[in-house]
Amino acid sequence: MLLYDTLTRSSRELKPIDGETFRFYCCGPTVYGPAHIGNFRTFVINDVFRRVLEAGGMKTLHVRNITDVDDKTIRDAQASGKTLREFTAGWTDKFHTDCTALGCLEPHIEPSAIEHIPQQITMIEELIAKGHAYASEDGSVYFKVSSFPNYGKLSHLDTRELDLGKTQNQRADADEYEKDSIADFVLWKSRKEEDGENYWNSPWGDGRPGWHLECSAMIKEYLGTDFDLHSGGEDLVFPHHENEIAQSQCSCGGNFAAHWFHSTHLMVDGGKMSKSLGNLYTIDDLAEKGHTPMEVRYVLISGHYRKQLNFTLDSLHAAKEALQKLTKGRANLSENAGDHKAKSADIPNSTFAAAWESLNNDLNTPAALGHLFSGLKAAQKLAPEEAAASLMAFDIILCALGLTLPAEETTSDIPCEVKELAEKRLAAKQNKDWAASDLLRDEITSLGWTIKDSSDGYELTINAS
Ligand code: AMP
Ligand code: ZN
Repeated sequence: MLLYDTLTRSSRELKPIDGETFRFYCCGPTVYGPAHIGNFRTFVINDVFRRVLEAGGMKTLHVRNITDVDDKTIRDAQASGKTLREFTAGWTDKFHTDCTALGCLEPHIEPSAIEHIPQQITMIEELIAKGHAYASEDGSVYFKVSSFPNYGKLSHLDTRELDLGKTQNQRADADEYEKDSIADFVLWKSRKEEDGENYWNSPWGDGRPGWHLECSAMIKEYLGTDFDLHSGGEDLVFPHHENEIAQSQCSCGGNFAAHWFHSTHLMVDGGKMSKSLGNLYTIDDLAEKGHTPMEVRYVLISGHYRKQLNFTLDSLHAAKEALQKLTKGRANLSENAGDHKAKSADIPNSTFAAAWESLNNDLNTPAALGHLFSGLKAAQKLAPEEAAASLMAFDIILCALGLTLPAEETTSDIPCEVKELAEKRLAAKQNKDWAASDLLRDEITSLGWTIKDSSDGYELTINAS
């Protein structure tokens, strides 16, 4: 597969370093509330990425962390009156439920920050010993950015006239900070009263790790100093991933990630979807409006991961229709294949070759979806044996996209009342009584259904509320 790499700003062929297993790390959720569909854009894209690698015959090792110790989890756990573990466990469960509903594969390893405090302390000790970190008067520890000349390479800070000398004595204590603040960042935060019981002992006194450190410590534990790919949403490039590189390379050497894969944010009404802006949708919000998680997944992969995608409720209606069309197309293909069964997959010689190529060319999911439809159309003319081979290719690509198709809507699911109106409308149209036909369409719409003309009469689909 060819994939764009944020560090080199070029598309590069993916090959596992060990020649066997593609080992990658994706920054996981911060569990202080339900993840929104913006977060899920990143996780779904990572899921498609893994599925395509596996469908192509590559073995993978997928590590994704849970952020359960940071400013936000501690703040909200304190406000809830629960312990940090209790509070984050509930939101971790909710995240898993949503991932399953969206058809995302479970990572092979899912470590959490709270279970890796000793590893984080060890990493700070190594950084201090090597002159890359220093303790402050109050028992906090900072990474000395000027000690790492490669700082800023990933986010191309060099093009912003980075002067590391200017970082002296400028420190960032918050887990998240602004794009242009090139400050020494915190590795260990000394204990504060508002953090309650959420502190651990360390050589520098009681406190807790800074957010950026957890991924470096867990990557070292599960993937070592050199691994194949690191991913996350675009907002993580700076400072989070920049800081991860600095901590990891300075403490234990190695090249860290060989490839950097970042997905662009999901927007809503032209702005970034985020919890702090209050413009987010969760899977539950959309379920209440009658939209299935698969419809959400379809929308999330309907745009290229490197382009902004603007979310609208209308796009969910279109996704529902598209999924139903795929169901129908697959049923026709299966009927065409009859009793024939393909022995093995031959995607390059099937009508879905272009869909597969698109997925392997920088994970072009919108093009792949387009080619699925054109592939189904082209397959209508195939002889049964070829149709069986195409059906197998179709199923493999669908699985790589992680899409589960809805059951075909049968006429028995349509209420009699709606069916009668549809038949009357068909008769009216045949008599060229357009006024009556329009009135009947309105009646059907008022009952929550959409009627469309088709070559064999009409097609009825239920409207999402
Ligand atoms: P968080 O739970 O805030 O740690 O974020 C989890 C993941 O979601 C990270 O990889 C973020 O970069 C990503 N993310 C956050 N907001 C969005 C968004 N609007 N669109 C796509 N990804 C996002
Ligand atoms: Zn991370």
